[in-house]
Amino acid sequence: MTIKLKKIIIWMLTGVLLTLSFSMVTIAQPTRAHSPLYWLHRETHLKQQTTSAPVSLQVTYDPAQSPRAQEIQGLMERTQTLERFVNPMNQVLALPEPITVLQAECGTVNAFYASEDRQIVMCYELVDYYLGLYNTHDVGVPTEIATVGALSFVLLHELGHAIVDISNTPVLGREEDAVDQFATIIMSRTEIGHIAAQAAAGWFYLKSSGQDTTAMPYWDEHSFDMQRFFNIMCLLYGSSPDSYVDLMQQLNIPDYRLERCSGEYAQALDNWMQVLRPYVRDL
Ligand SMILES: [Zn+2]
Repeated sequence: MTIKLKKIIIWMLTGVLLTLSFSMVTIAQPTRAHSPLYWLHRETHLKQQTTSAPVSLQVTYDPAQSPRAQEIQGLMERTQTLERFVNPMNQVLALPEPITVLQAECGTVNAFYASEDRQIVMCYELVDYYLGLYNTHDVGVPTEIATVGALSFVLLHELGHAIVDISNTPVLGREEDAVDQFATIIMSRTEIGHIAAQAAAGWFYLKSSGQDTTAMPYWDEHSFDMQRFFNIMCLLYGSSPDSYVDLMQQLNIPDYRLERCSGEYAQALDNWMQVLRPYVRDL
């Protein structure tokens, strides 16, 4: 991988790291040695960019109407959760068209990319859903960390859709799986990104656990939640097999599948790097 392409992943992950480090409400501010910028600087010697190219991603808020959505809007504005994630990406990504990341009250738990508006919509209800989910189910990290981790995964997933759209990238297979891979490989590049990706995988696992297997949505464009869980875990394992040996055994994933995970990870990484290459700023 070229230095330039390493930079895009590092900067994207900086967003995850910043978001997780300074997240939502209760997380202590890290010391300099723990700051993502510290290792970032050490590894790449990047300087603050002053490029005048248009901003790729712009976070905005649609005023919420219901009291609960207003609370969530206030929380997101106060913590600047998505801005902390998006701003570092803007320093690397130079997309041919700007994308708006709109936080809005949707009336349902959702997030989606709207091609006609060049908009990623992140619903306040989704934030509320994650806070409730991780508050009542232990995924090994505090509720706020898991919530921000899952939100980061979803935003990257939707950004994957946006990049496919504006770059006219041919997708040879199911796009929903491809953009799950995009989110996972971006997150797989740092330790805290792994935690975030695991929180997102945990969400799919938990969602799947209560599902009526006699009434599965076979028509859906997404893979089943449990498949999405195992696909994320396979990629995480493929990115760092030694770190996941015990967990993979607990999950009972057979060897013949595990043997393919590293190759699948390498392929997904290489493919996405090819897609991203034209949109990396000249750092
Ligand atoms: Zn999608």
